[in-house]
Amino acid sequence: MSYVSVIDEYKRYQMGENTIVANNGITFDIEQGEFAIILGPSGAGKSTVLNILGGMDSPNEGQILVDGNDISKYSKKALTTYRRDDVGFVFQFYNLVPNLTARENVELASQISPDALDVDEVMESVGLTGRKDNFPAQLSGGEQQRVAIARALAKNPKLLLCDEPTGALDFETGKQILRLLQKTAQDFNTTVIVITHNSQIAPMANRVIYINDAKVREIVENPHPRSVD
Ligand code: ADP
Ligand code: ADP
Repeated sequence: MSYVSVIDEYKRYQMGENTIVANNGITFDIEQGEFAIILGPSGAGKSTVLNILGGMDSPNEGQILVDGNDISKYSKKALTTYRRDDVGFVFQFYNLVPNLTARENVELASQISPDALDVDEVMESVGLTGRKDNFPAQLSGGEQQRVAIARALAKNPKLLLCDEPTGALDFETGKQILRLLQKTAQDFNTTVIVITHNSQIAPMANRVIYINDAKVREIVENPHPRSVD
């Protein structure tokens, strides 16, 4: 069984008289430890399905199986626990706490989790050893995103969900961040799912799920993704 299985998932938003169908029967699988990319234009429904996978939103129909459990059937309490313990989130804008150092930002996340990793080891793995005592404003965009990734990883999540993580970065820096996420999937055996509208990054993924107009249009498996270095 796949680690993640989204099966015939529908999500509709009611806007006054109008119904917006954000996800119109979405189905895909992702294996454990894969670096998967959800690709598609703006408004395609990518964030909607990622938010549903992260337990931040619930579908109208369909099954959302994560490690064999249908999270769409979870109670509110179970969903809160799932979000806290099992899922790491990385966003386009890093959402760091400005008056805490890089290390303190990561520590904060690790404190709430039962199987947290060693904070300094995680910071080393994302290449931040020399920047631990800096505040977010003293760090570059790429470094701030590394802190956000370390923060997400510190709780040792099963799933790392990233919504346009390179959207605010220049090309070179974005590439380094994507390589870091690719390496994370390999080293930690974490299932990493990245949303992007940039088709150029597709060769880095083990699996590319192309979504357009609320449906999956194509799934490409890539047994030999472009290597980390
Ligand atoms: P993408 O991430 O691919 O840009 P989204 O999943 O954010 O696409 O959005 C898909 C569609 O659902 C869009 O038409 C968007 O406007 C709509 N949508 C997303 N979230 C909401 C919401 N909370 N309320 C109403 N419509 C929404
Ligand atoms: P956008 O229109 O979203 O700004 P960009 O072309 O700037 O799209 O690319 C978004 C991110 O993807 C950039 O940060 C860039 O570093 C990364 N990226 C683009 N092309 C590649 C590539 N061929 N290999 C690796 N990373 C890439």
